[in-house]
Amino acid sequence: MRYFEVIRRDGPARLGRLSLARRITTPGVLEPDDFISAGSVFSFESIAEALDATTKMASHDRLTILPFVPSPLHTAPPLEVASMDLSGPLGAVIHPFFPKELPRADLYILGGLGQLQNPRDLLKALAGTRERLPPDSAVMAPALATPWNAAMLVYSGVDMVDGVRMEMDGYQGIYHTRDGARLWQDGLELPCRCPSCQCLAKSEAKDPRPLLAAHNILKLEEELANLREIIRAEMFREHLEMQVRARPELTAALRLLDQEETYLERRTPTTRRSTLLACSAESLQRAEVKRFANRVLTRYKPVESDVLLLLPCSARKPYSTSRSHRFFSEAIGPARRFLHEVILTSPLAVVPRELEEAYPAASYDVPVTGRWDLEERAWLVLVLDAFLKSGIYTSIVAHLEGELEETVKEHGIDAVFTGGGTGDEALVALHQATAQAVSGARKLPDPRLRHIRAMTDFSFGRGAGETLMSQARIKGRSLIDQDGEVLARETLAGWSITLNGAERLLPLDCYQVSIGSFVPRGSLLAPGVDGADPQIRPGDTVLIRGEKAFGIGKAKMSGWEMEASHRGVAVEIRQLKEL
Ligand SMILES: [Zn+2]
Repeated sequence: MRYFEVIRRDGPARLGRLSLARRITTPGVLEPDDFISAGSVFSFESIAEALDATTKMASHDRLTILPFVPSPLHTAPPLEVASMDLSGPLGAVIHPFFPKELPRADLYILGGLGQLQNPRDLLKALAGTRERLPPDSAVMAPALATPWNAAMLVYSGVDMVDGVRMEMDGYQGIYHTRDGARLWQDGLELPCRCPSCQCLAKSEAKDPRPLLAAHNILKLEEELANLREIIRAEMFREHLEMQVRARPELTAALRLLDQEETYLERRTPTTRRSTLLACSAESLQRAEVKRFANRVLTRYKPVESDVLLLLPCSARKPYSTSRSHRFFSEAIGPARRFLHEVILTSPLAVVPRELEEAYPAASYDVPVTGRWDLEERAWLVLVLDAFLKSGIYTSIVAHLEGELEETVKEHGIDAVFTGGGTGDEALVALHQATAQAVSGARKLPDPRLRHIRAMTDFSFGRGAGETLMSQARIKGRSLIDQDGEVLARETLAGWSITLNGAERLLPLDCYQVSIGSFVPRGSLLAPGVDGADPQIRPGDTVLIRGEKAFGIGKAKMSGWEMEASHRGVAVEIRQLKEL
């Protein structure tokens, strides 16, 4: 029996449930009544006595915290306590820097974290520990959480906190809000209307310290409720980029964590319901942004075209539905079938027209000022250079304006620059330049076939499009093979493959989840997974293969997590057939 389950994920942030007598939705606060602790092993005569005492106090309603070996932060614990096989929910205190044999537990408590001042050490302790613990266990950071650092803690892998620091700070006269902390003074205007603050405002209390402590804990609880709601809305990263502004060390922590590319990439979904908002410098470092560029360069196979047309992005997504892009396409006219359109944008850099419906190209938003800062420019030309290397274009037309045009020009890209814009003159210039460029150029395949091929490569890897589409053609809103079997269908959410299409992809041996000899119903749970492709991320379309069933579905967790988890939904099944 396990007592912790991850219900939802939004990147590294997780919403879970810890089932004690009280059901705690995480991230949450562990209250003193939620646990009983054996305490330090050194408070017993012997280890045997410590284990015996723990067995006697174990309960099903409360978390039993196993006896632990206290040890300074930078010193290995002097001895190990044997793992205990107790029933009921278990907590284990572990050393953040000295990995050892882990006892089985539902909640792992990181000892000594409160002493870590340096964001680098703290991240190493949190994200480092998260990586070596089973994904279906919870992590607790004691004596550390504040309303303003809770978001960063959760993003670093923390599921549970306590109110210890809030209470201690209250007794030292420190007043916390989501924006930071300050020393409380009588007569100060308070931004909060909680009962404690109302009492403080009236200067009636003999001792303000319990009121400050109560207010602080309330603010921490409010922020955790807020974070849970943000995970449900799949907007955690956006909230975090805002929240880390509260303190330089939080911003530093996020920047450092962004360098831990594997930690973040392994947890970042490939699709999200929400719009990716790129409002800060850190947005450029997001796993989604790097992954998109990487897939454009390594999975996407550029259309064999002689002419490349560079266009700016539009506020409305997908770009094709915007006013400016409709103007462009009218101006280009019949030349459109002879040139390859690629959109330049921040922070995604290079978006081939065929991929404009891929995540996050179809749903991102940036503050538009016409300004391109140095980092954005460097990223754009880095990706553009790599992209041009893979193409075979004989000529380039760039319908760009302002600083975007300047960036491409200054980088020495050899193109016909038409000055960009959607005015009459600009569109005439675009028309003339493209008409001239395509003279003698090869005609491109049907845009819908290009789109399906590109999206299939983008989702399953280079070559998958070719495999799916060999000898296929489009009929109405379906992609069919030579026998008329439907391989993919156009839906409101774009093209999606059918079981027939999925069968064609089987030889590629990618994005597959293998299961035992049973027929899953509705959803596939993690314990039913025998093996999963390690590159699977939440949101991916995956193929389910078993002796008795073959199906397709949407991954709800990463492939490595499916393999290591004992609870939770691994795949939401979309279509399944019994074999
Ligand atoms: Zn208050």
